Amino acid sequence: MYFRLDGTTFWVLFLQIHHSLKKLFIIFLQLSNFDFMKRLLLVCFSTLLMTTLFSQLYIPIDTANFQFRKDKSKKYLEESKLFITKLKADYKGSDKSYIKTEYEKSQKEFNEEILHGDYLFDIRFDHFVDSIVARLREDNPMIPADLRFFISKNLSLNASSMGDNTFVINLGTFYYLDNEDEFATIISHEIGHFILKHQILSLQRHFKIDKVDSKKQLGKIKSDRYSRGAKALERFKAIMYSEGTINRKKEQEADSLGYTLFRNSKFHKADYLNSFILMAEYDSIKPEGLDLPIYHKIFTLPDLKFKEEWMKCEDFTGYDYSKYKPKLNSDSMKSHPENEERIARLKHLFPELSDSGEITKPGTAFIELQRIAKNELVPSLDFNEDYGGGVYLCLLNIQRDSTDNYHKQWLGHFFQKIYDARKSYTLNRYLDRVEPKDQSKSYQQFLNFMWNLNMMELKKIADYYSKKGS
Ligand SMILES: [Zn+2]
Repeated sequence: MYFRLDGTTFWVLFLQIHHSLKKLFIIFLQLSNFDFMKRLLLVCFSTLLMTTLFSQLYIPIDTANFQFRKDKSKKYLEESKLFITKLKADYKGSDKSYIKTEYEKSQKEFNEEILHGDYLFDIRFDHFVDSIVARLREDNPMIPADLRFFISKNLSLNASSMGDNTFVINLGTFYYLDNEDEFATIISHEIGHFILKHQILSLQRHFKIDKVDSKKQLGKIKSDRYSRGAKALERFKAIMYSEGTINRKKEQEADSLGYTLFRNSKFHKADYLNSFILMAEYDSIKPEGLDLPIYHKIFTLPDLKFKEEWMKCEDFTGYDYSKYKPKLNSDSMKSHPENEERIARLKHLFPELSDSGEITKPGTAFIELQRIAKNELVPSLDFNEDYGGGVYLCLLNIQRDSTDNYHKQWLGHFFQKIYDARKSYTLNRYLDRVEPKDQSKSYQQFLNFMWNLNMMELKKIADYYSKKGS
């Protein structure tokens, strides 16, 4: 895409801009006869200008490099083969070939997701995750050294363990959690599942269940838009999480072992409990709404007059709005439904958690990753072709900060996509219909507005914001 520069192009451009600004600045200084204080002021001013310029110019993490993903995929497949070999040596039962086949299928799908670009590969995230895992391992020798972590572009607060030493952490985790210690909670919990071999146990149990019956059941599991084409992986996950009471017991076991690992490494206990509270909140979280003035502000353009009729809504007065589920959080932690119950149980088992003190302040590394995660939300929506969601998120960000050019640039891009879709009669695919039962009032107003715009208006908005950003 036009502003998705690769690293080299970015630095060349940056140096060019930086160089020419510096040159101008020197000429300016030579021409003027400034005293020292004035020069100092000028230096401060230009530094401020540069900082403002470049803080707005966020460059999305580049996942367009196919060769890079191919290398990652190759490494993944090699390591996965090792796991299968080890599995064949370790397990003797009649379920051995079933477990092997299920893992092979899920690994094949996971690999396709890597190639497709569903995961973020970024050294800053890798270093951070490695440092947390290294700290856990230092005090918990039972944690193996060869664990591998992937950052998924999924926006929800969630993580998972595949049981073959592969772990997936959603990008949303960095966005919704407060600090390193809360992040360590999620990792400890998933490592807990892994050490307790919960995934293998699930497969062994599943082997015994009538295959015809389970096939029917699993066929119903839909893959969501964040893991397109990953049917087998979804099936695999479904096996892991479709077992009700047994699953609940496993969650509790992973919570307890997770806390022990966490405590051994001297992470802060207040943050352990708080991540559960955040997960509980996450399931019921209400998105901030768009205020009406923002529509006037953003959509009154030099060659486009704002029309009140754009804001007209379909009449759904009979609906109970308190029961909506926010759209951006549609992929909630289905495997973790009883967060309140889990919190109570943890407090009972570990009384020190009841009086655990203040939440830790985040370190600079976590703050930086949180900033990246926040900026990566829009590229993720674009990647998942959720253009309506993209426009909504851009508007929320611009409402918060009207100088946010990064999101204005994306707004132009998403409007162009909406325009293209409207032109080819495929807008239904990219923009939700109004569904009062499932959507917040603000989101319904937004959808009404979007559906009310005509082709010419969509085009004008797309053109205006695309140019403004570039
Ligand atoms: Zn779990």
